[in-house]
Amino acid sequence: MHHPEAPASEAVGPEALVAKLRATFATGRTRPPAWREEQLTQLRSLFTEHREDIADALYADLHKPRTEAYTAEVDFPVREIDHTLAHLEEWLRPQPLAPGALAGLPEGSTAGTQYEPLGTVLIIAPWNYPVQLLLVPLVGALAAGNTAVLKPSEVTPATSELIARLIPEYLDTDAVAVVEGGVPETTALLAQRYDHIFYTGNGAVGRIVMRAAAEHLTPVTLELGGKSPVFVDRDVDVAAVATRLAEAKFRNAGQTCVAPDYVLTDPDTAPALARELRTAVERVFGADPKSSQTYGRIVNERHFDRVFALLGSGTTAFGGQSDRDDVYIAPTVLTDVKPDEPVMQEEIFGPVLPIVNVDGLDEAIAFINDRDKPLALYGFTENETTRQHLAAETSSGGLGFGLPMAHLRVPELPFGGVGESGVGNYHGPHSIATFSHRKARLDVPLG
Ligand code: NAD
Repeated sequence: MHHPEAPASEAVGPEALVAKLRATFATGRTRPPAWREEQLTQLRSLFTEHREDIADALYADLHKPRTEAYTAEVDFPVREIDHTLAHLEEWLRPQPLAPGALAGLPEGSTAGTQYEPLGTVLIIAPWNYPVQLLLVPLVGALAAGNTAVLKPSEVTPATSELIARLIPEYLDTDAVAVVEGGVPETTALLAQRYDHIFYTGNGAVGRIVMRAAAEHLTPVTLELGGKSPVFVDRDVDVAAVATRLAEAKFRNAGQTCVAPDYVLTDPDTAPALARELRTAVERVFGADPKSSQTYGRIVNERHFDRVFALLGSGTTAFGGQSDRDDVYIAPTVLTDVKPDEPVMQEEIFGPVLPIVNVDGLDEAIAFINDRDKPLALYGFTENETTRQHLAAETSSGGLGFGLPMAHLRVPELPFGGVGESGVGNYHGPHSIATFSHRKARLDVPLG
């Protein structure tokens, strides 16, 4: 229907939007390194000039403590931008093959690989780190010379609205667009053709994304989740392990894709670990985490109900308090948890840590291999042979010894899953690889 009275500012539909971004890409404007660097620098300014606004939005949506908001959703992306700007030229440099690799071709032949941008990409983000997980992929997309559609999570509306307002103020509006909305809007976006789709979220929607992408033979990156196990060996300093474990598990109220999901340890270590976890939680969040400035909330009532239902498994070592009106669940540790109990059937994504007893390393490895390949696997052990066994005999997106969740802070390490925990990876140079085509080139002299 024709609406002559429609205001000029009315949002364009997904088809026209993607056509506009494609047209921009076709002009070649996004290819020169200077354009990419300028966009990244602008994105950096967005973060530094709106640090407080970002923290306010995250507090409104998630009660995210300010220190966590700064660290994970401002400083982390800024570091990724700085690292990318410092290395972009080096990462984009064509890679020549050694002349010895060209045996049989005419004298003077050369060959190598070079990256080229893909075109227009779609980035879909979840609610748990709604800024980082939308804009760190964008760093890679821009650094690789693409145009991009961003779809923030509707579950965190204040953050979504802030990003939708700020992006056009800082970035090339013909090259980057934000589309807000939930399932209908994302479904409409997914009907368009892109040159890459980068999705972070749960595996059920990951399948919807991959199906939509298949229609157009569009490659995908799927950053999914799952139950990330922790193996605690009997030889460790339990107090030190508990501190690191508590900090990783209860940050963002447990709503972190790489958070330790559950612990596997022997029956002698389990009670001591539970005791030390309690001490660590009191040290970090005080005797009443509910009144702590550094403890978060569950994102909404739907997720509260889901996590609340998991509190009944095993024996509550400490925690277990909750308040639905405040979407609060206390840091909770469950002991003597059996593998068939509810808390062990799905990714917890909340502040509940079950401890499952196993009889040593072999049983732990068998337990891990009986389940979906996790996004992360963590180990605490003083024993090098134990580390070798865990590394060689299990499969996971990432493997971290000694400090859970720290591997994703190393930008030269690829971050991503395997099997049920995802497809592809990113961060640093790996983002360039994800958002580029690596073209083979052979030059043979004439005559
Ligand atoms: P979510 O509910 O915000 O959904 C993610 C995105 O999918 C949103 O943008 C949403 O609009 C879109 N979406 C939802 N339903 C859809 C549908 N039917 N069709 C099309 N799009 C749809 O977030 P979530 O999935 O609850 O996020 C939590 C999950 O994400 C956990 O499993 C977690 O482990 C995983 N996660 C993974 C990473 C990682 O980097 N690997 C990071 C964070 C979270």
